[in-house]
Formats: sequence, structure tokens, C-alpha cells
Amino acid sequence: MQIIISLDDYCKAYNLQIGVYRPLIYFVGSSELSSIAKEFKLKNGSFYPLPIYLPLRDKNLLDKVSGKKIDLIYENDLVGFIEVSEVYEPNKDDLCIDIFGTKDKAHPGVKYFFDEPKYFISGKPTIFKAPSFANEKHFMSPDQVKAEKLKRGFKTLAGFQTRNIPHRAHEHLQRTSLEVCDGILIHPLVGWKKAGDFNKEAIIRAYKILIDNFYPKNNVIFSLFYSPMFYAGPREALFHALVRKNFGCTHFIVGRDHAGVGNFYKLYEAHEMASNFADLLDIKFLLLREPYYCKVCGTIVSDKHCSHSKNMICKISGTTVRQSIIKGNIMPDWLIRNQIANVLSKQDLI
Ligand SMILES: [Zn+2]
Repeated sequence: MQIIISLDDYCKAYNLQIGVYRPLIYFVGSSELSSIAKEFKLKNGSFYPLPIYLPLRDKNLLDKVSGKKIDLIYENDLVGFIEVSEVYEPNKDDLCIDIFGTKDKAHPGVKYFFDEPKYFISGKPTIFKAPSFANEKHFMSPDQVKAEKLKRGFKTLAGFQTRNIPHRAHEHLQRTSLEVCDGILIHPLVGWKKAGDFNKEAIIRAYKILIDNFYPKNNVIFSLFYSPMFYAGPREALFHALVRKNFGCTHFIVGRDHAGVGNFYKLYEAHEMASNFADLLDIKFLLLREPYYCKVCGTIVSDKHCSHSKNMICKISGTTVRQSIIKGNIMPDWLIRNQIANVLSKQDLI
């Protein structure tokens, strides 16, 4: 018997196998999905902030797969198998409130979750044919990143999650982390993202300019992170940190509205949650305030070291960059480096 899996499913199955989501190594079942959502816990009591689940995409198989070893098919290719322990119908309404704090489908993570099939299956996947991204130049597994960290002699490594091309605020956060850490893992997420975000090629192109021309190359590890976004805000900040710990990070950067979307979360809600859970995660958080450009200071600052009034400051955000690109507006160098702005176009947006 076989089931068809999506690219996100394939990606998650492969990540479970190579240790990206440790201590989780299998797709969760119903009780664990709910204990993660309600108590941030796996069934063995380990801290865990977001569920890794597998939807059953063929409802004709509903009564047939439980307790069986099922082949996993991706684009007509047999890529692995799963030993199915449970088939269940998650209570998506309840789960959304716990995970996202809302069940409003205007939230892209909520909509994605509701759009997934009605039934999920649990069990440990075995992938014997790695996804094509595993052979791409910019992909590194947790073991490869840890080996690189060792080779470069880093005692400390800061993880930087992004789904964007680098603008000046990102650069400020990255440089700040290098003041306290030996190296930085710039780890852009390139799994499922909402429409309007940047595509993978643009992110690689933009970061290549920044790293090759402006950063001390030996202090930067650049690798793509293949995993879908949830847009679950503060909870996802914890998840992003846990995952980066599996890649050898000792520190993790959390800026303004981490993994947030629209106005669903408070700007520094992720800072509060990270402070509350830091001990359980065994990683140091670099909780950094929003960088902006101050016309009086004449540089990128934050409200921790600039006292000037609101009308003197210019906000820096990925949204502004994306909107400027769509409208064809020229972007100032304080928003994004000219060298990077010059290589971006509307075609780079999903
Ligand atoms: Zn100022």
C-alpha cells in the first residue's frame, strides 16, 4: 500500500530523519498533537513548541493504513515508508486557538492548517531517497553545520532565522550577534511561505552580495533551511530556536515580531515567551529591539540607544522593501544596500 505526500510532507519526513526536529523523530499522534499545543510537551515530557504532523491525502485509505507499513510516494517516486501507528481527525478549531492564538483564516498559517486534509497519520518515517534539495549547493544538514562549526573553531554560534532578503535592520542584528558570538548561521527558511514573500533564488543572490563583499566570510555559515512556515509568532520563535540548537547554535536571535504576520501578535511577545522558556530550551536568546534609521543619529539604531522622536526615525521592514519593489520605487541605502536592491525585481516575489 502507498500514500502520496506533498513537498512539505517530504521535507518534514526527511527533517525528522536527519535530526532537524529533535527530540521529535516521528510524525505526532492525536494526544501528542494536543499536548504540544496545550502544554508545549511531547509525551515523554520534553519541551516542544510546534507539532510536526502528516496529513493523509487520500481519504479512501482511512480505514486501511493503521498499523501498516506504507510506502511514501512523492511525484511518482517511491522515496520511503512509514510505519503508521494512528489515523486520527485533529480538532483543528481547538488546535488553532492554542497554536496560533486565533482561528481567523486571514492568518496564513491558520488557513494553511485548515486547508490541509481532515485526517492525519502518526508514525516514524524512513526516507531512502533524499529530496533533491539535499544535493543543492546551499543545503547543509545539522551534522554538516556542526562539522563546519568545529572546523572553524567556533565555540559560540548565533542562529539567524529569516524568510527575507537582507535589509539594513537584518544586517544590524547579524552584526550585533557577531559582537558576542564567534560565528553566525544565516539560515533562511525556504519551505512553504505566504504569497508575497521572496523566493529562494533572490535570497541566495542577495545574501551572496552581503557575505562576499561586507562580512568576514569565515565567521558566517550560510545554509538554506527547508521547512514550512507556521506564522505562529512567539511559539514559532521557540521552535526556530530549538531547531537551530540541533544545528549547533548556542545562541538565537529574536527580533521584532518574530515569525509573526499582520497584527496577530504583539511586537515583543516572542521576547517574553523566549525569556519564559529559555531554561527549557538550553539556548541563549539574543533578544534584540527593532533597528531603525534615525535621521539625527545618522545611522541604524534602536530605542535602546537612540532617544529621538518618532518623526526623526525611518522604519525598516521587509514589507516596505517588498512594497517598494512592487511599485518600482527607488529604495534608500539606509533601507537596503544599493548593491542588493539593484539585483531584486518583482519576479523575485512568490
Ligand atoms: Zn537617534
